[in-house]
Amino acid sequence: MKILCIGRNYIDHAKELNNPVPEEPVFFMKGSNSLLRSGKPFFYPEFSKDIHYEAELVLRIGRLGKYIEPEFALEYVDAITLGIDFTARDRQAIAKKKGLPWEIAKAFDHSAPVGDFISPGDLSRNIHFQLLKNGVSVQEGYSRDMIFSIPALISYLSRFNTLKDGDLIFTGTPAGVGPVKTGDQLEGWLEGEKLLDIRIK
Ligand code: ZN
Repeated sequence: MKILCIGRNYIDHAKELNNPVPEEPVFFMKGSNSLLRSGKPFFYPEFSKDIHYEAELVLRIGRLGKYIEPEFALEYVDAITLGIDFTARDRQAIAKKKGLPWEIAKAFDHSAPVGDFISPGDLSRNIHFQLLKNGVSVQEGYSRDMIFSIPALISYLSRFNTLKDGDLIFTGTPAGVGPVKTGDQLEGWLEGEKLLDIRIK
């Protein structure tokens, strides 16, 4: 399986990192080594001093698709959850400055914790999600604030990558990203349901 991640999909987050608002989706990938199930600890890696959380609505693909039309895109999602796109912000800053790929900052082991999956329901609704750090709300988002909608993202990604059963799409983070440190507890909520629980060790 693969993990496709969208960058800069919320205007307020693009602004907080001084990034331009994109004209088409920006994406990067993580591998299956990046997965971390809820309840497992995240061990702070030695190669970074500035690991940030990015809370994101995650879509799980349930069937094979290529060149998916937006009007059929929602039929390809079989589950959703809340995930964290862990980012080594110090490594990313160096990569951005040098114009190098982001994998060093994004695709490391356990950089993609995912919560328990739930039925997608009607994905055209305005899905609310939230991240708590040590019991305090640090990030909150609504799916209708995305620059590129869920159908637009699925359609766009499937032009370049055949989507397969079990693939995950991280749909981008709203404003409020920030650092974690050893001992922090992260909780991800989706529409009032706690789906993700990760301790930083
Ligand atoms: Zn992200």
